Amino acid sequence: MRKIYRGCRLEAWKEGDFKSASNMIIKERRQYFMNTNEMYRQLGISDPVLAFCNEIEDSLKERFETIDETAEYNQMKVIKAMQDNRVSDIHFAATTGYGYNDLGRDTLEEVYASMFHTEAALVRPNLISGTHALHIALSGNLRPGDELLSPVGKPYDTLEEVIGIRDSVGSLKEYGVSYRQVDLLPGGKFDYDGIAKAINEKTKLVTIQRSKGYDPRPTLSVEQIGELIAFIKSIKPEVICMVDNCYGEFVETIEPTDVGADMIVGSLIKNPGGGLAPIGGYIAGRKDCIDRSSYRLSAPGLGKEVGASLGLNTSFYQGLFLSPTVVAGAIKGAVFAANVYEKLGFAVVPNGTEERYDIIQAITFGTPEGVIAFCQGIQAAAPVDSFVTPEPWDMPGYDAPVIMAAGAFVQGSSIELSADGPIKPPYAVYFQGGLTWYHAKLGIMMSLQKLIENGVVTLKK
Ligand SMILES: *Cc1c(COP(=O)(O)O)cnc(C)c1O
Repeated sequence: MRKIYRGCRLEAWKEGDFKSASNMIIKERRQYFMNTNEMYRQLGISDPVLAFCNEIEDSLKERFETIDETAEYNQMKVIKAMQDNRVSDIHFAATTGYGYNDLGRDTLEEVYASMFHTEAALVRPNLISGTHALHIALSGNLRPGDELLSPVGKPYDTLEEVIGIRDSVGSLKEYGVSYRQVDLLPGGKFDYDGIAKAINEKTKLVTIQRSKGYDPRPTLSVEQIGELIAFIKSIKPEVICMVDNCYGEFVETIEPTDVGADMIVGSLIKNPGGGLAPIGGYIAGRKDCIDRSSYRLSAPGLGKEVGASLGLNTSFYQGLFLSPTVVAGAIKGAVFAANVYEKLGFAVVPNGTEERYDIIQAITFGTPEGVIAFCQGIQAAAPVDSFVTPEPWDMPGYDAPVIMAAGAFVQGSSIELSADGPIKPPYAVYFQGGLTWYHAKLGIMMSLQKLIENGVVTLKK
């Protein structure tokens, strides 16, 4: 159908009949919308949901343009880093065994270092997750008698056992590293007085979590992180400032290492893996910090020299290359969801108009049915396992049943569209990712569809 119109349009242009040509364009556009809406119908989205969501999408055009501008800058940043390090197809070759002279691995680390403006980086498949990378950075740089400080409140759940906030075998606490924490003030401001008092002669490393993770505090902007680091260094210049950068990469045009962080740490099955990395983590920063981390990751004396990349380099490079636009799609999805659910009267964090500093969106439904229907909608929109229905279950380590939705190509990948929520008050769901904006859009429309079908939401006519 489209082809025919395009052909006619060309004829009309040729004959100088511009009015008829523009009519054809209008017709063609209409046809396009009819076809796309028909696809949405076939996927299970009703016309009222389509109309409601399309109106919201239309109102976000300018916002999306800003997101695209950030992606454009970051895309150039990644390409520049790859060109500066002369990335070539020899770097995609697999190594095995010890992995000595793994040129692809070493060059990838140079690319990360260039891009993050650091002296060095560790980017490895044997950093098996974000938690593992954070554990290596912390345990590699802390020694018995040292103290670790978090000036931004409680760290991410899994770090509680790494640090020993919750007693755990092999924690930093067992190795004689003490921990101190200064909570954020109401509204998410830094408690500068408290932080100044907490820094002492033992304070060796400060850990700053950029993303709110699953806590009800605001995510920190890179600028705020810079102010905090400057304050800490003004009190104790030699302290190592580490930033947990999970979910933050490429959301802004600068990263924490551009504002004084000595080390940043993240997961490759989140933003910088671009959806293609099947495993991995990174630590980027000052050479001495990275070296110490590498001796912890492999063994004292071996450090960065070993660790075969086993043929994963191509997906690391290509995933990094795609990451800026993938992240942009995920942010668009988060902004879209915030606006859809805000308009329906639910509490959303961040709200529909706030600036974004990570890709996570929280929506409070206030009822178990709301959380469950939302997650079932996300699942139903997935390219993988769309036919399964997620249900809440008692997961180890949680004090309430949790429901999770993910139809991902990489297990547990949260740069892919995913959602989860504990079945307890305030009945909030956390949702993130989407390898493409269109998939994120479908997921959110489907979540609304399920909420309507389950009687949680009604759309006004
Ligand atoms: C995801 C995340 C982690 C842990 O990463 P995993 O890969 O799940 O182990 C740590 N900190 C923050 C802020 C995160 O979002």
